[in-house]
Amino acid sequence: MAIRKIITLDHPKGHMLREKAKKVTQFDAGLERLVRDMWETMRDAPGVGLAAPQIAVPLRVLVAEYENERCALVNPEIIKAEGEVKGTEGCLSIPGYVGENIRRAEKVVVKGRNEKGTPVKIAAEGWFARVLQHEIDHLNGILYTDRLDDPKDLVEVPPEEEGEELAPTPASTIKG
Ligand code: ZN
Repeated sequence: MAIRKIITLDHPKGHMLREKAKKVTQFDAGLERLVRDMWETMRDAPGVGLAAPQIAVPLRVLVAEYENERCALVNPEIIKAEGEVKGTEGCLSIPGYVGENIRRAEKVVVKGRNEKGTPVKIAAEGWFARVLQHEIDHLNGILYTDRLDDPKDLVEVPPEEEGEELAPTPASTIKG
């Protein structure tokens, strides 16, 4: 296992954060290794989600973990979305900032495969649903900053607060 470098917009490969990732067609040992590295990288950051383009791998793969819910998803697709909630999000690829009042569906159903190629279907709501939507956006080159209703909702956060582990309360900021 290895902790991979999380790229930010100003990284030489930062353009990859703006590109649509490719569908995975080969479910092999390389994919399983990628997913293991993504778990390790996400937990080290620490974050609640990570998409492969954030480590400069242009594939449709994500990992997400919030409280006792977790999943690795390959080629995920939102097949159902219900309701709307506003919340605060951070992104490991946009250090030093959070976005407030980001609108997301309250509940989603996502289908895809796990890293072994087995079809999976995940029904999520609340913060876990938000994490999944944030990470799926990454696979399409979309960042939370694209979803700000008001530019004033992009707020700078001091580095000392940013380094803190996320408290598992609904009021905490997700970072993925
Ligand atoms: Zn992110």
